[in-house]
Amino acid sequence: MGYLIDRFGRKIIYMRFSVTPRCNFNCIYCTSHVSDDRRTEEFTKDDMAFLFHTVSELGIEKVRITGGEPLLRGDIVDIVQSASINKNIKEIVLTTNGSLLKQFAQSLKDAGLTRVNISLDTLRREVFEKITQRDFFENVMDGVNASINVGLTPLKINTVLMKGINEEDIVPIAGLSLKYPVIVRFIELMPVGNDGFWKDHYMSFAEALDLIKRKYELSVGKGTKGEVADYYKIVGSEGKIGFITPVSQHFCATCNRIRITSTGKIYPCLFSKEIVDIWEAVKSQDSGEVVKLIKKSVKIKPAAHGAIEKDDKQFIENMKELGG
Ligand code: SAM
Ligand code: SF4
Repeated sequence: MGYLIDRFGRKIIYMRFSVTPRCNFNCIYCTSHVSDDRRTEEFTKDDMAFLFHTVSELGIEKVRITGGEPLLRGDIVDIVQSASINKNIKEIVLTTNGSLLKQFAQSLKDAGLTRVNISLDTLRREVFEKITQRDFFENVMDGVNASINVGLTPLKINTVLMKGINEEDIVPIAGLSLKYPVIVRFIELMPVGNDGFWKDHYMSFAEALDLIKRKYELSVGKGTKGEVADYYKIVGSEGKIGFITPVSQHFCATCNRIRITSTGKIYPCLFSKEIVDIWEAVKSQDSGEVVKLIKKSVKIKPAAHGAIEKDDKQFIENMKELGG
């Protein structure tokens, strides 16, 4: 089995797969106005099974299933199962808004899902509604409990930092790691679509860390290899706290991933303008062509995305299509 290695010596062992751009939430930071994708059809579960098998033969060990909201796919359990039967794929993680997780948790676990990441930006119901534009706070909390109960663990909670919107939630969300064995990860807001939201609400991880340190005594630990976050622990806690810092300290030098969308576009980088289309090759189950195109996408993977600055033209075209 050959591995995918890019021009800068980075070994690509991680594939993020957005299984649908559809979502039942409308988060204020995720919505983008730009999409040039005229394809409305999504890969079927058979297409995905073929793709998982192909990438596992290329040395992909870790698969992330994301969206849009992946649990909107009625065949999500089959999709997970088809990834898990490949012996090279050692870890399958699903990123979800959690609203539908309660009903899927046990069957996902049985199908071979390793664990889940749940996005939760606030513990206040009214702020939740402002951020997601939906009244599903209880459903998400049920999803958090269900994933712990069925053993989709360690559970990671993703919280996007937004100045003026959820600053007051940072310390209480960090505090979840005291009571529960969860890993809370604060993510710096990235610009999606070329609007003013990012400029108005971006908050660096350093500011958030400062707020947490004022309340809790923290110890520091290194993230394991390939992880994008180093971890802190509130002294005496069960869980951990991490920061994902795509803006203030990008982690491109150790990037080990490519992203594939539900309509067959490979993005070598989250900010890529250059993409590779594998739709036809996957639909015709032409594994030689799929391998050729995946290798091409690795070849054009950039060294790094540029610095994201206030007057920048650098933004993510369509987060739901890309999957974060
Ligand atoms: N719907 C699922 C969810 O919300 O977890 C999966 C897809 S969502 C696009 C994946 C992750 O991207 C979520 O954790 C979300 O918070 C994050 N995300 C979306 N827009 C973002 C932005 N502008 N900056 C930083 N993270 C963002
Ligand atoms: Fe949907 Fe996730 Fe985007 Fe929110 S962050 S709108 S839940 S895809």
